[in-house]
Amino acid sequence: MKFAWTPHRFSGGTLAFDLANTVILRHDPARRLDRISGPEDLAGFAVAASLHCAEARQDMAYAPCPASALQPLLELRELIDRHFRSLAVSGESNFATFVAMADKAASILRQTGMTPQRIDGAVSLSALSLAMETMNSASKALRVKLCANCGWLIVDTSRNRSRIWCDMTVCGNREKSRRHYNRKTGSPEA
Ligand SMILES: [Zn+2]
Repeated sequence: MKFAWTPHRFSGGTLAFDLANTVILRHDPARRLDRISGPEDLAGFAVAASLHCAEARQDMAYAPCPASALQPLLELRELIDRHFRSLAVSGESNFATFVAMADKAASILRQTGMTPQRIDGAVSLSALSLAMETMNSASKALRVKLCANCGWLIVDTSRNRSRIWCDMTVCGNREKSRRHYNRKTGSPEA
């Protein structure tokens, strides 16, 4: 099956999370899948992010970065995941993960300038701005969550902070059919 950058892939609510979520089932070594294995994948991500990312601007499209910038961006991706996953689990920003992530983002921005067009610069700005917001506001920090089914990072923008899934139509339905299956087979509810 050919992989497509569908709108579902951009459920994170920020560009930084959408990039972090390009690793599918990150914490399951047997099923882990990285959707970005080379510059051409990143180019596809940039085009689709311009269309589907919640942070994309109508007047501007993201552009891919040169091949040499891919590795630093993938390192930033892992640091984004570490920092915000820890925040989602503990409810508090971790100083060490923040500094590591901010340091990498700053080094990318030194290369790109503050150009929000280039995908690596845009991800860096997205990560830094969310990190500052969640540090300055406890209620914003509570909006950083992990999808209850797939573990993707999400920003919950619902009025009463009730979001559970990255995408109701994908992960919400999977959960529903799993419960249905368990009822029919008599397996205990997880
Ligand atoms: Zn999910």
